[in-house]
Amino acid sequence: MNVKRIFCIGRNYAEHIKELGNAPDEAFVLFMKPPSCVVPAGQTLTLPRGKGSVHHEAELVVALTGGGADIAEDAALSHISHLTLGLDLTLRDLQNELKKKGSPWELSKAFDQAAPLGEWKPYHGQDLQALEFSFHVNGAPRQHGKTADMLFSVARQIHILSRTWALQDGDIIYTGTPSGVGPLVPGDRLLLESEGIGRFEWNCA
Ligand code: ZN
Repeated sequence: MNVKRIFCIGRNYAEHIKELGNAPDEAFVLFMKPPSCVVPAGQTLTLPRGKGSVHHEAELVVALTGGGADIAEDAALSHISHLTLGLDLTLRDLQNELKKKGSPWELSKAFDQAAPLGEWKPYHGQDLQALEFSFHVNGAPRQHGKTADMLFSVARQIHILSRTWALQDGDIIYTGTPSGVGPLVPGDRLLLESEGIGRFEWNCA
């Protein structure tokens, strides 16, 4: 699949909002990464150097088909073609500085290699708010997500995005991360997995 645009939802799990010290104000946070950020599973992930901590954010990722503008929430899931898991890599120290200055987040979120992405699995209508996924570093558990805990469901995310952008084939959405985010360092072995979606691995350099 050719990824067209990468939409990312921030602050979509209450426990993750708390761990970063943000207020759970229900605000919908959105940012984008260029498609050139994608690192397919199995490829070496080269972490940025000299820019402070590089955090992992494990997320369910959906790919859209058909698309369109002003998609009703109850019709939104029919626009999903595939599912996978991905990492929304974040230069956390830099992001904190940008937040303090009220500056855009791109330098901390949209750098090269910032979007490790698993292989796509066809979406067969399974309940997207009843999935679980986990992320391990060097065999140790770091994050465990239950999509039932999302503040904005995947259908609602598609509805909200479609009010600003006419969605298109190849648009994908990183749907937010649960708690447990933390730093990665060169040499780390990463495993992202979910029953029914798959197991995806990267080695960090
Ligand atoms: Zn994220």
